[in-house]
Amino acid sequence: MLRVSGVHTYYGQIHALKGVDVEVNEGEIVTLIGSNGAGKTTLLMTVCGSPQAARGEIVFQGQDITRIPTHKLVELGIAQSPEGRRIFPRMTVYENLQMGALRADPGHFEKDLRRVYDLFPRLEERKSQRGGTLSGGEQQMLAIGRALMSRPKLLLLDEPSLGIAPLVVRQIFEAIKEINRTQGMTVFLVEQNAFHALKLAHRAYVMVNGNITMSGSGRELLDNPEIRAAYLEGG
Ligand code: ATP
Repeated sequence: MLRVSGVHTYYGQIHALKGVDVEVNEGEIVTLIGSNGAGKTTLLMTVCGSPQAARGEIVFQGQDITRIPTHKLVELGIAQSPEGRRIFPRMTVYENLQMGALRADPGHFEKDLRRVYDLFPRLEERKSQRGGTLSGGEQQMLAIGRALMSRPKLLLLDEPSLGIAPLVVRQIFEAIKEINRTQGMTVFLVEQNAFHALKLAHRAYVMVNGNITMSGSGRELLDNPEIRAAYLEGG
């Protein structure tokens, strides 16, 4: 569904991605793990066209999207829930979800809203509350819910566990699993929380310093002693 081939990305002189190859097949949850500054967020952003890849190719459902403007991606069926969440703080939960649905067929709105509320009951309880007054975990739920309202084929998630209490992290990961299982949604998840991400993912990639250094099933990487030492034990 998504194929990233030989992608290089720079920020000025900084060579952030150094020839990255990643593939996400339809119906999969794929995760990218790696430590701080490895380039994980940069890969998601490059898929979304900002910054653009300096070299290499990104193909989504057979279409070259390497240089496509970011705003066109939603129309193609790619939705992103960015790191730091970026919900609309002055709008209510309901209005935030409405914003997510802007490009979707209005006929689906009520059904899609119901689905998001069933996935995250907390959002229904808080539907009239302003986004900026939600807790970190609730804002994360809202960011994912808003992305889902565009009816994406591919959901890109950047560190959904960042700065969130462990119990809420579990709820959010359960919800991601549920979306994948019941709706067949394809998910590409970037995470520093390697343990949860690997448990959830069908397949995983490890990024070190702008390069993919390892890949395998989530289980294989969880059992791999090098991965355990670098990302799971004491980390
Ligand atoms: P984290 O988990 O901390 O977000 P990451 O793996 O997502 O890390 P990136 O944010 O992609 O890493 O950063 C990769 C490298 O690119 C880092 O060295 C970072 O300092 C650099 N970088 C990221 N954004 C910019 C920017 N806007 N300008 C210059 N350098 C940047």
